[in-house]
Amino acid sequence: MKTAGLVITAPGRAELQELQVPVPVGDHVVVRVELCGVCTPEQRVFRGARPQYPYWGGHELCGIVEQVCSDRQGLPEPGTRVALGLMPRCGRCEACRRGLDNHCAYVNRAAPTDGLPAGPRGFADRVAVEPYQVISLPAPLRPERVALTEPLACCLHSVHKAAPEVGETAVVLGAGTMGLLHTVLLSQAGCRVLVLDDDPDALSRAQAAGAAWTGPLTPQALAAVLELTGGWGAEMVFCSRGGDLGLQLAARLAARAARVVLFQSYPSGAELAHFAPEDVHYREVRLMGSIAQTLDDLRGAAEILALDPDRFDCLHIEVLPCGERALARSLAPDLDRVLLDFRSV
Ligand SMILES: [Zn+2]
Ligand SMILES: [Zn+2]
Repeated sequence: MKTAGLVITAPGRAELQELQVPVPVGDHVVVRVELCGVCTPEQRVFRGARPQYPYWGGHELCGIVEQVCSDRQGLPEPGTRVALGLMPRCGRCEACRRGLDNHCAYVNRAAPTDGLPAGPRGFADRVAVEPYQVISLPAPLRPERVALTEPLACCLHSVHKAAPEVGETAVVLGAGTMGLLHTVLLSQAGCRVLVLDDDPDALSRAQAAGAAWTGPLTPQALAAVLELTGGWGAEMVFCSRGGDLGLQLAARLAARAARVVLFQSYPSGAELAHFAPEDVHYREVRLMGSIAQTLDDLRGAAEILALDPDRFDCLHIEVLPCGERALARSLAPDLDRVLLDFRSV
C-alpha cells in the first residue's frame, strides 16, 4: 500500500513523496487521512531548529476508517470519522500496566529500520494503525475539530494533574495554542482563569477562550495577580510559555498548597532555580510535570470536543492544502494551528 507522504527534506523545504505505508504486524486499521495539524516538533524541524532530515512528521490526525483488518469487537466501521493517537503504547510494559501509557517504554526514539523517513508519519493521505490508536468520536464532529483531539488531550492531561476545583483561580502562562486549550478546559471546570502573554492578539483570543482576566507576561504581573486574589495567590499555575521568567513568576504567584504544572519543554540542564526547597516545604507548593497524553485523555478530549465544538472557535485555525507553503504558514505567530488538508491528494 502506497501513500503520498509530506516529508521535510531541509530547513524550509518539504515535498510530497510516494512512500510505502508502514503497516503494523497483526491487527490494524487503515485510515484515509482528512486533516493533520502541524505541531511544535514539525515546526522545529522545518525551521531548522532541530535539524533531522528527512523527517516525516504529523501526529494530530483526523480521518475516515477505510478498512478494518481485525476481528476485535467495537472498532469503528469503514466510513466512520475518527481521531488518531499515534503514540506507541505496548500495553505490556511496566508503565502501560500501571496506567501510565504516556510513559510506555517502547516509545521509539531510535532511527527507523524500515528505510522510511523518521517521525510519527501522520503527514500522509493514508495511515495504518493498531486498533488502540483509533479514537472513536461520541457524536458526529467536523474534521477541523476532530484534528484538535491530540493537542487537547495533552492539555487535559495537564489539567487533570492539577485536579482543579470549582471556584479556584488558575494562572495560565502563555496564550499560545496550548495555553488557550488550558483556558477552555479550566473555565469549563468552573475555575477563574487569569492568562499572561506578551501578544495582545493572543490575549484577546484567551478572553474568547474563557479567561476572566488577561495581562502581559512580565515581572509586573505578580502584583496584578496578587491584587486579583486578595494577596493569596493562585491555586494553580500552568507554565505553557515563558521559560525562566515563567518559572520565576510561577514560584511567586503560587498560593500556599498551590499546584504548579510544568507543561512546556525546558532545555536539558536547566535548573529550577526559583523554587527554594525551604519555600516548597513551608508553603506546601506541589510542583508537577505533564507530558503527552494517555489513551484515557484522548477519549476524554474527543468527548469534550463533541460536547461543545463551538467553544474552540477562539483558536485561529487555517486549513491549507498539504505542502511546503502550509508548513511555512504554520510558523506565523498569529496562527494557533495549520491543519494540512490531505483530502485532495
Ligand atoms: Zn501535537
Ligand atoms: Zn508500554
